[in-house]
Amino acid sequence: MRGLMLEGLDLRKPMSGHKLAILRIQAGVLKVMVNKLLERGFYWILPVILSKSTDPLWPDPDFSIEKRIEVEIYGEKVSAMQSMIVHKRVLVSLGPEKIFILSPNIRIERRDRAATGRHLYEFTQFEVEVAYAKMHDIFRIYEELITESIKYVKESLPHELEILGRELRIPQAPFKVYKRIELEEKYGSSWQDEISKIIKDPVWVTGIPRQFYDYEDPETGEWRNYDLILPEGYGEVISGAEREYEYEKLVMKLERDGLEKSSYKILLDLAREGLLKPSAGAGLGIERFIAYITGARHVAEVQPFPRIPGIVPDV
Ligand code: AMP
Ligand code: MG
Repeated sequence: MRGLMLEGLDLRKPMSGHKLAILRIQAGVLKVMVNKLLERGFYWILPVILSKSTDPLWPDPDFSIEKRIEVEIYGEKVSAMQSMIVHKRVLVSLGPEKIFILSPNIRIERRDRAATGRHLYEFTQFEVEVAYAKMHDIFRIYEELITESIKYVKESLPHELEILGRELRIPQAPFKVYKRIELEEKYGSSWQDEISKIIKDPVWVTGIPRQFYDYEDPETGEWRNYDLILPEGYGEVISGAEREYEYEKLVMKLERDGLEKSSYKILLDLAREGLLKPSAGAGLGIERFIAYITGARHVAEVQPFPRIPGIVPDV
């Protein structure tokens, strides 16, 4: 079971063969994903760490941070990145219309989240954003990244899988798509955990009320956003959406959520000028994906320097 007696947490001992195998698999997966997107003409953007603008993470059904990291630099207040959503929206509007970023996020998750096996207080997202794209374009991109990287691991790193005792199946794309509301009716509020235990391949779930930047259809009230849920209880690995781009709607939603408009100044300035392009994108949690591929019991097992909520190591 998932617990905190984890592999490779003692940073005073040489790494086990098990942990080294995980690191080799991670390098292989990232190589495949990066190469695929470069072949497809994406710009590879390096991350920012501190900014006046970041993801509020609110309202999101999964919200559970106990504090935000805010500091003053040069007399200005900035936050550590909780995701690069705002920067992605700005960038795809200004030139590079297809981008990806390996973006480090700091989210000081509540300490009880240590036991979920899925939460870290520092992790990295493989973020993608594409101007004028729709939901299904983003589905196809991540389906290819996921199936190709799993194929690569099976074909090129069988020794590593053997060390880990991991049997992996190559998922069949396109993945099935479900509506959140239907899953909620059938399985209740823990639908994510329930379906994750039943499915054999990853599935998309759409229509999840959450942050202001995800697109809400004014006619149907439906949210054009999505999560990807992994099998075997690993749960959510991707969240994404088509995005809001109209000034009035953005302002209305920021006010509805009780957020400061001044934290989204460039986004709103671009939208007011009609320069904020519609786009769609998503972010994949790299540690969660590698935990699934390697069969790790806790997502911290794939980190060289584990970042478990509530446990701050000496390095
Ligand atoms: P979000 O947009 O907040 O859902 O974050 C995007 C993805 O990042 C999620 O689908 C997860 O794979 C990953 N992620 C989010 N929060 C954490 C966390 N605390 N620890 C590890 N991975 C996370
Ligand atoms: Mg999410």
